[in-house]
Amino acid sequence: MTATSEVHATGTIVNPATGEVAGQVSWTDPADVPAIATGLREAQREWERRGPKARAKTLARFAVWLGDHRDEIERLLIAETGKSATDAAQEVPLLLMILSYYSKNVEKAMAPETRPAALPLLAIKKIAVHYRPRPVVGIIAPWNYPVANAMMDAIGALAAGCAVLLKPSERTPLTAEVLLRGWTESGAPPVLALAQGARLVSEAVIDVSDYIQFTGSSATGVKVMERAARRLTPVSLELGGKDPMIVCEDADIPLAANAAVWGAMFNAGQTCVSVERVYVLDAVYDQFINAVVQAVNALEVGAGEGKHLGALIDDTQVAVTERHVDDAIAKGAKALTGGKRPEGPGSFYPPTVLVDVDHSMACMTDETFGPTLPIMRVSSVAEAVRLANDSPYGLSAAVFSKDIQRAKDIAVQLDCGAVNINDVISNLMCTTAPMGGWKTSGIGTRFGGIDGIRKFCKQETVVAPRTSVGAGGNYYNNSLRAMARMNKLMTKMALAGPKRISK
Ligand code: NAD
Repeated sequence: MTATSEVHATGTIVNPATGEVAGQVSWTDPADVPAIATGLREAQREWERRGPKARAKTLARFAVWLGDHRDEIERLLIAETGKSATDAAQEVPLLLMILSYYSKNVEKAMAPETRPAALPLLAIKKIAVHYRPRPVVGIIAPWNYPVANAMMDAIGALAAGCAVLLKPSERTPLTAEVLLRGWTESGAPPVLALAQGARLVSEAVIDVSDYIQFTGSSATGVKVMERAARRLTPVSLELGGKDPMIVCEDADIPLAANAAVWGAMFNAGQTCVSVERVYVLDAVYDQFINAVVQAVNALEVGAGEGKHLGALIDDTQVAVTERHVDDAIAKGAKALTGGKRPEGPGSFYPPTVLVDVDHSMACMTDETFGPTLPIMRVSSVAEAVRLANDSPYGLSAAVFSKDIQRAKDIAVQLDCGAVNINDVISNLMCTTAPMGGWKTSGIGTRFGGIDGIRKFCKQETVVAPRTSVGAGGNYYNNSLRAMARMNKLMTKMALAGPKRISK
């Protein structure tokens, strides 16, 4: 990709695997972002009025469009990122799954909820909580899954009746243009718009949005939250990770080894929930290492068809990976595979298994976001748990043991948003459960069943009379004695529960 400049109106996006031109993009002038938001606000009113059932139909049509245009999308995705075809093939199906789930559940999510009275005396009121969409949701996306990350949160927001102002990564702006075309060709109204550019455009999006859904690095997440705080705009931040995997002595070692290799190398390691470090119990360490090295040696590196993992997004990402590997080797680690940047064109780095690593090395503490698999020998599960939690991040983790109850007990000792047992990354497919990070891995969650729609709404409580009996009992127009009687009755009722529970 050419250096991004928001001064020039157009940019050329280059395939990082081949250096070929992937396409042209028109950068948005940050000064134009308020007008884009105004257009969205106007269209949003009608979109909200349509109601959830009609919106579900539009989302379903968009799903069908995506299914019909999958090849075109994946070809562009490979050209824009240098991914392997296997990795590129994961993105559209994820969106289809989310679209399918939310088009089925949006009516339930948006239905007003009745709430019971807290005290019998208050049962004279009917309480309802309504979910009202935030008009413009700004979505700021990273480059690692240009299709999935652009739309996975937008679907919930659009289902809720919001308009979405999407700011794709400046490194991968092209596929978002196809997604927008798909939205329009599905017969959907203009409640989805793009703002193309880098930091300045992002800031302009934050300044005009009613909610910010950000996915990216923890460092940028801090800046986004600071900027959003100026207008008290709520944020949901899905940030970086350093996900640990623990392999117990009773694990299925071939399964664990293949999971570690796929979890670390999938998308060339550029996945927020990729396996970034492994702790293996002493008794199975040698067996695990042998299985991992064998699996890594079988991998085919290259972009497009017939390959397992492709290029990194650009040379900056290769440089980070190289720095982590070099730092580890300088401090005594050994690379059992890869370990050296190859000669030749393209932003490639070979899949690299590191052993004899410890927490003095960046590869065990900082997010690498490259095809590395550092593996550390531990003498007990307690040591593995302590080391797994010794991180500023807390996105997700994996535990391998044939004893599922034991693995569950270990899972709830790990300080992170999700734990996969005898698998990696699979929680991402669980649309019914929340996905989010602890510590510097984020604030808020995505998905989580109907919460993945409601997060884009404001709650409005409407309290209506069930009966007129007893209404206005505490107004000034009552006698002071009647008001005191009412107060005494309320106090007595409110104290009944605490008196019983406190015994
Ligand atoms: P990044 O933080 O550099 O950029 C993310 C987005 O923020 C881009 O669109 C960028 O233009 C914009 N941006 C950059 N500076 C900004 C600023 N000062 N203010 C506002 N916006 C700004 O992240 P990246 O390199 O694109 O993506 C990789 C990171 O994303 C990794 O850390 C990865 O773990 C994380 N990620 C997290 C998840 C998750 O769900 N937790 C998913 C995918 C990626």
